[in-house]
Amino acid sequence: MRIRVIRDKCQGHARCWAQSPALFELDDEGYILPADIVVPVEQERAAWLGAKSCPERALVIEQDGKE
Ligand code: SF4
Repeated sequence: MRIRVIRDKCQGHARCWAQSPALFELDDEGYILPADIVVPVEQERAAWLGAKSCPERALVIEQDGKE
């Protein structure tokens, strides 16, 4: 699983970070870092919850290259 980060949509709510600070790293102003996220299998649930918690839909889940 990967999470594609659409940085331009991020409004700095930090809801993703609240689900998993290790996966969803924020900058000093609370916006997500721009790089896409490769999710280890054991963190897929936290990644899914974090992506779904984003009110701006800035985090797109991809499985095997598909959304
Ligand atoms: S929840 Fe969405 S808007 Fe908030 S910091 Fe994370 S990616 Fe950005």
